[in-house]
Amino acid sequence: MDVTESDARRTLHKVFGYEAFRGEQEAIVDHVVAGGDAVVLMPTGGGKSLCYQIPALVRAGTGIVVSPLIALMQDQVDALRALGVRAGFVNSTQDFDERRSMEAQFLAGELDLLYLAPERLRLDSTLALLSRGEISVFAIDEAHCVAQWGHDFRPDYLTLSVLGERWPDVPRIALTATATGATHQEITQRLGMPDAKHFVASFDRPNIQYRIVPKADPKKQLLSFLKDEHAGDAGIVYCLSRNSTEKTAEYLCRNGIEAVPYHAGLDAGTRAVHQSRFLREEGLVVVATIAFGMGIDKPDVRFVAHLDLPKSVEGYYQETGRAGRDGLPSTAWMAYGLQDVVQQRKLIQGGEGDEAFRRRAASHLDSMLALCETVQCRRAQLLTYFGQEPTAADCGNCDTCLTPPESWDGTVAAQKLLSTVVRLKRERGQKFGAGQIIDILLGRKTAKVIQFDHDQLSVFGIGEELAEAEWRGVVRQLLAQGLIAVEGEYGTLVLTEESGSVLGRQREVLLRKEAPKPASRSTKAER
Ligand code: ADP
Ligand code: ZN
Repeated sequence: MDVTESDARRTLHKVFGYEAFRGEQEAIVDHVVAGGDAVVLMPTGGGKSLCYQIPALVRAGTGIVVSPLIALMQDQVDALRALGVRAGFVNSTQDFDERRSMEAQFLAGELDLLYLAPERLRLDSTLALLSRGEISVFAIDEAHCVAQWGHDFRPDYLTLSVLGERWPDVPRIALTATATGATHQEITQRLGMPDAKHFVASFDRPNIQYRIVPKADPKKQLLSFLKDEHAGDAGIVYCLSRNSTEKTAEYLCRNGIEAVPYHAGLDAGTRAVHQSRFLREEGLVVVATIAFGMGIDKPDVRFVAHLDLPKSVEGYYQETGRAGRDGLPSTAWMAYGLQDVVQQRKLIQGGEGDEAFRRRAASHLDSMLALCETVQCRRAQLLTYFGQEPTAADCGNCDTCLTPPESWDGTVAAQKLLSTVVRLKRERGQKFGAGQIIDILLGRKTAKVIQFDHDQLSVFGIGEELAEAEWRGVVRQLLAQGLIAVEGEYGTLVLTEESGSVLGRQREVLLRKEAPKPASRSTKAER
């Protein structure tokens, strides 16, 4: 064992209190401690921070961490200080005096780590300051922000190549959790790191079984999933709204499963109690919004369930990734339905942000929907999304591999549905959502159908060959494929540019057959 290795390990034990490095951490740390540049691609939660924190502590001088996440800097620095690490940050949230004091500490060699926002490094004054101190390592976090065609491009990142030019002898480490092959190349090139060693961790979590089921009665479906497969296990259930986390937790408790809610609207005391119970107790279920999970390192989370659709594949991967840290079999289970698609599209359309922001949100959602509707291996699709080669076409541990979904030719059904949308638009000028369209297709004389004379339409009753649930599946899949769209606060169905090719019979529509509904297992106790 050489001296630097033992320094790194000693720091891991003494400062951070961890027993062993994870995955490639040690190889990365050794490489950087020895003065080499590194490009690190590791999934969120994989343990990127130690890869630069330990070299910063082992090498002489201050480690400079460039991070765009200004809001997290205070927390990161507080956590390091609690471990006895001399850490600080400089960003726009500080007043002049605070910044001055930080700079003085850096110059006096009193800091192990200094966090900076990228825009700081555009200033000559910052570069001049850095030149007057001793630097151990430059860490460039969220390095994919340098990729111009990526989702998170930050122009300030382009100026970071200056670091290699001005400090050729200081090792640099660029880290990211989201990088396709192309982005990876761009990082290397734009940051000017041609000689960097690349460390690419696998995004595969083979012990997690991925399953996505059609949403019918989500709370009941969740309950059977938990009772059948995860009785007495600890796990996380994610919901979109604070209200539904509370309702769901109550429902589970009523049905004999110990569950507590967690969301940002609860007071800090309650949140802390629920979080520490989750970490300490054996089989507690936390029903949470995405506010829960950051920095939670519980190895034996046996399942992560989603009752609502995550906004992106990144989010889904991150949330499901909290299951099975110990490597034992775990389940990522999600119930997903038409209403999820309608709701998310509405949120994007009615939400804040400029046009570019909305486009980005829509493309994130599209990738998530593609994962939900795929007839292929979900793991293979996930890995491909993150730019990694799947080890096999079929993983054998996801629902589509275990029970391959059948597909069917939905061209005629799609034409019937789209024709109905066209009729309503042309003849009435009124706007209707999926419910009314399906009632018309099924030939149902509901009050609303009669009120608008929809039983007089030529399309009335032309869809009786499918059941209501099947029609909802058709609508959902057409939405996911972009062959139909929703608009406005009532979720009006409207045509898209692509709809024409279906109506004009220029293309076929392949749909996924809905899995048969699981047998109802309800008991009297359930409500
Ligand atoms: P990332 O930045 O890649 O998302 P972090 O660096 O925040 O991940 O690490 C994720 C979690 O894993 C943290 O709670 C961290 O303390 C923990 N962790 C990292 N490395 C180790 C290790 N070698 N042993 C135990 N826990 C670790
Ligand atoms: Zn699979």
